[in-house]
Amino acid sequence: LTFKELGLSEPLLEAIADQQYARPYPIQQDAIPPILRGKDILGIAKTGSGKTASFVLPILELFHRTKNVSSRFASVLVLVPTRELAGQVADVFLTLGGHLFPKVKTVAVYGGVAINPQMQAVHGADIIVATPGRLLDLLAQNALRLSDVEILVLDEADKMLELGFADEMDQLFDLLPQKRQTILFSATLGDAIQHINTTLLRNPVKIEV
Ligand code: AMP
Repeated sequence: LTFKELGLSEPLLEAIADQQYARPYPIQQDAIPPILRGKDILGIAKTGSGKTASFVLPILELFHRTKNVSSRFASVLVLVPTRELAGQVADVFLTLGGHLFPKVKTVAVYGGVAINPQMQAVHGADIIVATPGRLLDLLAQNALRLSDVEILVLDEADKMLELGFADEMDQLFDLLPQKRQTILFSATLGDAIQHINTTLLRNPVKIEV
């Protein structure tokens, strides 16, 4: 299958060509169509599999189709374990969204740096890529709301748990709208991930690569 056959439109196909991605990786073949249909996803995949583009591309396609940019608050939230991954994932949104109009505003927020610039930056963001602790700090400062989130992505969920973010994640889950699409990626499928799966995901499509 080609990226076009998976349901992606011209501005994304142009960005894919810019990146010289010749063909979709298996995880992208499996994840893109159900994400476009609004399904929840339980993805067991490691770094290097192409997992990032497997959720970034369909999310950007949904923005392209509905042109629902600039709802008041962010409509997509991506939770990640580390500052490095936050930067990397946000970069993939920016790169693959480069041909979209109107532009989709993506912001990465993470701890270990001053919070003030991030309080400004999240204003008007469509997509927020965040580590859990800093996101809670920003919420406590009323810098943003999660009331408009339509898609939640948990990337490297097992690593988030390993790093001790379980409490922060639970606090965040309580603040999210019940009606949403949830996409979970983890390198492993242990008990804690199964627990998140059964409590947060609704009839997910399971993908293993
Ligand atoms: P990830 O597993 O998301 O960290 O991606 C691993 C690497 O694969 C990144 O450098 C991507 O730019 C690259 N990549 C993702 N999808 C494709 C594709 N379909 N063809 C070629 N390279 C890709």
